[in-house]
Amino acid sequence: MKDKELSGGCSCGKIRYNLKAEPVSAAMCHCTDCRKAAGAQSVAWITVPLESYTIVTGDPKQYHSSPKVTRTFCSDCGTPLTYRHEDRGRDIDITTGSLDDPERYPPTKDIFDRDRLSWVKTTTDIVKQ
Ligand SMILES: [Zn+2]
Ligand SMILES: [Zn+2]
Repeated sequence: MKDKELSGGCSCGKIRYNLKAEPVSAAMCHCTDCRKAAGAQSVAWITVPLESYTIVTGDPKQYHSSPKVTRTFCSDCGTPLTYRHEDRGRDIDITTGSLDDPERYPPTKDIFDRDRLSWVKTTTDIVKQ
């Protein structure tokens, strides 16, 4: 059985990507850097092997949010797309919200809980309710 191909892109449609592998994990990140990068209270990510990520159209802009971290986003509409950490060179994180089907991979853990805003519930709590 062949799974539907995983794909996603930015809000304006200029950037489109495909993923050839299923995610190895799905997490909700509460860190300060993600918060600023997305302008949102927290950011959901899936992690896939780097080689499974292919940009189909467009040219994401990249920047270093800290010395070892490279983030990409659409320079036209601003959608945050990927996160890479030098210490995890084989993996890339993709924003769950940029997937065409974000319902498919709900976060199964919360990370950087120490940075979590007081008014933001953890994903685990939300699941339990
Ligand atoms: Zn865009
Ligand atoms: Zn983060």
